[in-house]
Amino acid sequence: MSGDVGASGDGPTVVSETPSASRPDARRVAVIGGGPAGLMAAEVARAAGADVQLYDRLASAGRKFLIAGKGGLNLTHAEGADAFVARYGARRGEVGKWLAQFGASAVREWARGLGVETFVGTSGRVFPMDLKAAPLLRSWVRRLRASGVGFHMQHRWLGWCDDSDLRFVHPGGERHVSADTVVLALGGGSWPVLGSDAAWVPLLSERGVAIAPLLPANCGFDIGWSEHFATRHAGHPLKPVVVEWTDAEGHAVRQQGEFVVTATGVEGSLIYALSAQLRDAIAAHGATEIRLDLTPGRDTHRLTLDLAKPRGSRTLSEHWRRHAGIEGVKAGLLYEVLPKDQLQDPVRVAAALKALPLKLLRARPLEEAISTAGGVRMEALDDDLMIKSLPGVFCAGEMLDWEAPTGGYLLTACLASGRIAGTAAAQAPITRTTRN
Ligand SMILES: Cc1cc2nc3c(=O)[nH]c(=O)nc-3n(C[C@H](O)[C@H](O)[C@H](O)COP(=O)(O)OP(=O)(O)OC[C@H]3O[C@@H](n4cnc5c(N)ncnc54)[C@H](O)[C@@H]3O)c2cc1C
Repeated sequence: MSGDVGASGDGPTVVSETPSASRPDARRVAVIGGGPAGLMAAEVARAAGADVQLYDRLASAGRKFLIAGKGGLNLTHAEGADAFVARYGARRGEVGKWLAQFGASAVREWARGLGVETFVGTSGRVFPMDLKAAPLLRSWVRRLRASGVGFHMQHRWLGWCDDSDLRFVHPGGERHVSADTVVLALGGGSWPVLGSDAAWVPLLSERGVAIAPLLPANCGFDIGWSEHFATRHAGHPLKPVVVEWTDAEGHAVRQQGEFVVTATGVEGSLIYALSAQLRDAIAAHGATEIRLDLTPGRDTHRLTLDLAKPRGSRTLSEHWRRHAGIEGVKAGLLYEVLPKDQLQDPVRVAAALKALPLKLLRARPLEEAISTAGGVRMEALDDDLMIKSLPGVFCAGEMLDWEAPTGGYLLTACLASGRIAGTAAAQAPITRTTRN
C-alpha cells in the first residue's frame, strides 16, 4: 500500500494498512500533500511516535521538488541569518521563528543524513553535489517508508465529511479517513500539473479560514512586444544587464543579472528578484516601468563618442555592433523602443542603452509562476501552525501566506514549516474537529 517516487501508489480498491509500529496511544496523523513540506511533516511526526499516513492526489510524491531540480536544485542559501530572514519581507517575523528551529545549516545537515552532500555556489546558493533532486527524493521517500509512514497516492482530498472524517477521491471511488490530527501541505497554485492546483482554497475559506488571494511570485511580465520583435527575439537571453525600478516613494532599486525575452514580455532570475514589487506596483497603478542598462559598466559619455564616429556606408546595426558592441536582442530592443527618428542620434541611442524604458503591463498568470504569494493568513494560525478555528488541523509550506525570491529560500521555509506543523500534529490533543 505504499507509494514511492515513480511508483503508481494504491490500487483502485485497496484500503490503507501500513506496517507502522506505533504505540497504541499514538496520534493518527494524516498528512495531505507529498511535497517537501508534507514529507518533512511526515518525517518529524513519525519520529515523534505518531502513526503517519500521507496522501497525495498525484501518482508519486514530490513532483514539483523534482522539477525544481531540473536546472539545479537550489536547496538553501549560505548567507548570514539576518540577510536570510530579510528575504521573507513582511513575513520575516513569522518565518524567522521557523528558521530558528530549522535553518540553512540544518537543511544541509538533513540532506547529508540522506546521503546527499551539498556545496555553496559562487552566489551563495546551496546545491546538492550532483545538482539533482531525484537522488535526494528517492532516499527520503525510502527512509520514510522504512520508518513506517504510509503513502496513499492518487488520493485527492475533497474536504471533510459531516462527521469530520477526511474525504478523498481515488481511482476506486470515494474514501473516508479518520485521523486525530491533520497536516495540510497542499502547495500554492503555480505549475498545477505538478499537483498543487489550489483547490484547497474554497475548502478552507468555506470553513471561515482567512486566506490572502493567491498571486504569482517569481513570475514573468507581459510587455506586449511587436510581432516583429517577438518573432525574432523570443527566447533570447539578455546578459549582463541592469534593471532599475523606482517605487512610488521614489526609492530606486538597481540590480545586475540576466533574464530572457519571451513572446509576450520578460522572465528569468533578474525579473523574478524584483517581481513582488513589480507585481504590487502594477496592481496599484495599472502598469509599471523598468529601465534597462544594456551596457553595464560603460560610461554614457564614452558610449556617445563611440556611437558618434563616422558610419560611412555601414548599416546602423553594423555601426552599433562595431562601436558599442550592441547586436542581437539588445539592438532589437533599441529598434523596438526608440522612435525611428532617434535611432541615428548618438546621444539618444547612448541614453537609451543606459536607461531603456520598458512598460510592464501585467504579471504572467499564477500557473506559470515559480511560486505563489498569498495563502492561509498567519493570523489564522497559532505558533504551531495550527488553524486556530480548526483545532487539530495544521498547515505548512507554500500554501501559507509568505513569499520569497528564488535562491533556496522557498524550499527552506517549506521544510522548516513542515517540521513545526508535523511535530505539533504528533503531540496535539485529540479534538472533535478531527476525530469522529
Ligand atoms: C520550475 C520550478 C523550479 C523551482 N526551483 C526551486 C529551487 O531551486 N529552490 C527552491 O527553494 N524552490 C524552488 N521552487 C519552488 C519549490 O519547488 C516550492 O516552493 C515547493 O515545492 C513547495 O513545497 P510544498 O510542499 O509547500 O508544495 P508542493 O511541492 O507544491 O507540494 C504540494 C503537494 O500537495 C499535493 N496536493 C495538492 N492538492 C491536493 C489535494 N487536494 N489532495 C491531495 N494532494 C494534493 C500536490 O499533488 C503536491 O504533491 C521551484 C518551483 C518551480 C515550479
